[in-house]
Amino acid sequence: ADKLDYVKSKIGEYADFPKKGIVFRDIFGALTDGKACVYLRDLLVRHIRDKYPDVELIVGLDSRGFLFNLLLATELGVGCAPIRKKGKLAGEVISVEYQLEYGSDVFELQRAAIKPGQKVVIVDDLLATGGSLLAATALVRKVGGVVLESLVVIELVGLGGRKKLDSNVHSLIQY
Ligand code: IMP
Repeated sequence: ADKLDYVKSKIGEYADFPKKGIVFRDIFGALTDGKACVYLRDLLVRHIRDKYPDVELIVGLDSRGFLFNLLLATELGVGCAPIRKKGKLAGEVISVEYQLEYGSDVFELQRAAIKPGQKVVIVDDLLATGGSLLAATALVRKVGGVVLESLVVIELVGLGGRKKLDSNVHSLIQY
């Protein structure tokens, strides 16, 4: 809990960004602090080791999920893959349209990134309305992956994103 409190104390908070009325939670505020980086890594790795030791692939969401997917993959000795905004990934990709807090967009995943039956943990910085993780879950399943969990650093509980998701959801910090 000490590590968690420390990381939480370093998360930035910006009123009226990117729009009036929205309180933006900024993970980058924590990442400029070396101790917070180490603690954040420890907390995420320990969670996966405890609950999903059989994980085979970490899938990170564009773009702040990428801060964590290679980190977790190397710590756990498994692979990782990105889900990206439309038009960025080479080769055969599958696409899903999704709603986000501030509009709509298309996510893509390389078909070859996941083997059928592979056990996946999806990671992102923050869960808001759940649109992004819902789309990511659909993409992983479309290529035959098994979603063990969606893991985020921050959850905006009031937006109810967790209810939208039918996979396991875990957050380190809640607002
Ligand atoms: P959702 O799809 O509504 O759950 O929104 C989640 C996505 O929007 C994540 O990829 C977040 O990075 C981004 N996002 C939404 N609200 C915030 C915020 O307050 N701070 C940082 N990112 C946010």
